[in-house]
Amino acid sequence: MKPENIWSFDDLREEVILADLCGKCGGCVSFCSANRIGALMMDDSGYPVYKDKDSCLQCGMCYMVCPQTHPMKEEVDEKYNWKEPIGNFMDVFSARSTDLDIRKVATDGGVVTALLAHMLDRGHIDGAVVSLGKSLLKREAKVATTREELIDAAGTHFSEVPHLEEMGEGYSTFVPIVKYIQQLGGVKTVRVAVVGTPCQIGAIRKMQTLNIVPADIVTFAVGLFCMQCFEMEHLMDKPFIRQYGITVDDIARVNIKEDFMLTMKSGVTVHIPLKEIEEIARPACLACELFSNDYADISVGGLGSPDGYTTVMVRTVKGKEMMADALYRGVIERKVRKYPEDNEIEKKRTISLVKEFTGLKKSRGLKYRKQFRNKKIT
Ligand SMILES: Cc1cc2nc3c(=O)[nH]c(=O)nc-3n(C[C@H](O)[C@H](O)[C@H](O)COP(=O)(O)OP(=O)(O)OC[C@H]3O[C@@H](n4cnc5c(N)ncnc54)[C@H](O)[C@@H]3O)c2cc1C
Ligand code: SF4
Ligand code: SF4
Ligand code: SF4
Repeated sequence: MKPENIWSFDDLREEVILADLCGKCGGCVSFCSANRIGALMMDDSGYPVYKDKDSCLQCGMCYMVCPQTHPMKEEVDEKYNWKEPIGNFMDVFSARSTDLDIRKVATDGGVVTALLAHMLDRGHIDGAVVSLGKSLLKREAKVATTREELIDAAGTHFSEVPHLEEMGEGYSTFVPIVKYIQQLGGVKTVRVAVVGTPCQIGAIRKMQTLNIVPADIVTFAVGLFCMQCFEMEHLMDKPFIRQYGITVDDIARVNIKEDFMLTMKSGVTVHIPLKEIEEIARPACLACELFSNDYADISVGGLGSPDGYTTVMVRTVKGKEMMADALYRGVIERKVRKYPEDNEIEKKRTISLVKEFTGLKKSRGLKYRKQFRNKKIT
């Protein structure tokens, strides 16, 4: 019988991959202890499989770092002072970059880009792992080491027209940041900030708790709110998209707040309810229960803020120090309402929206986990 608390890739396969919960992040393959001798690999569809089962050391590392397993929840919760229902936070506010060049290209208020650029300028980091838009719907991980590179990776602006041949397999809003960090370890970039979804930041926090090299190079984590990632190659085929009369050439920006927003080159924004767009969400995302990136240094999203502003949740002491410095030096400005009591009302409203979306995600996650489990049994 398997000893308690000793896992292997077989457990990961059973509990995550065969249960349709694998988000294809590549963490297990990249951080496998037998990586050099090649125990695991990604198959043609992007799922991890044994390459050579005999090379497996039965160490359980792959199981522990997977964002879909929870063997270390207690340790990580304790380290990040986690509390129900949305984790620890010290402040919540709407803010934006004071730099118009950043605001022009940012998804929301450009807080992420402005903060990272500021941290680079002040020498707090040597680079930031961001996601560079290669075309309208395709992004890839990159380490940005200059302000210009950060601005290039901001928001969803594109200099090139999307090519239809790019609309093939793998067209997803999910960018494999964790796999990229493993490759960065070899480059010896010393201190990086990372921008990632809750599953990605969660996996990095687990690796840091386990002291897995090179997770130690991540010295600051910016966590994006995340309702889901989409398999974008299916977007344009869907009847519900066709009913809006949109073609890929019409789209200028993609964003998610309370709903899915496609802004056309004409300037018109089409709002699509999240429920409607669930059919192009990745299965693993439908079963995911994480929303507000509870283990990040700061969490950010559009939810709760007016257009042109980013919602900021300051979670750790480091997050508080970096944000305070950026505000003090005028790199980022808070949205200030006319009457101080309005700031408090807005803050409460945002917190309750984050709680509401966290609850929605939890119940959706539970529903899909149950469905996937039943599918497996039948
Ligand atoms: C896949 C995804 C889902 C999201 N879901 C929600 C949601 O449901 N509700 C909500 O309120 N907000 C959501 N957000 C966050 C929101 O869209 C903004 O990214 C956030 O408000 C920061 O805005 P900003 O203007 O400050 O960022 P910017 O200054 O524009 O910087 C954005 C940063 O995010 C990086 N980035 C972009 N795409 C990815 C990606 N796929 N993976 C990792 N990094 C990336 C960019 O490289 C850039 O560094 C989501 C973001 C992503 C990427
Ligand atoms: S060697 Fe360890 S990390 Fe690699 S597959 Fe086996 S159990 Fe997983
Ligand atoms: S979610 Fe990531 S770590 Fe987990 S099984 Fe899939 S590829 Fe591996
Ligand atoms: S919904 Fe977001 S956090 Fe959850 S698995 Fe998908 S990308 Fe990761």
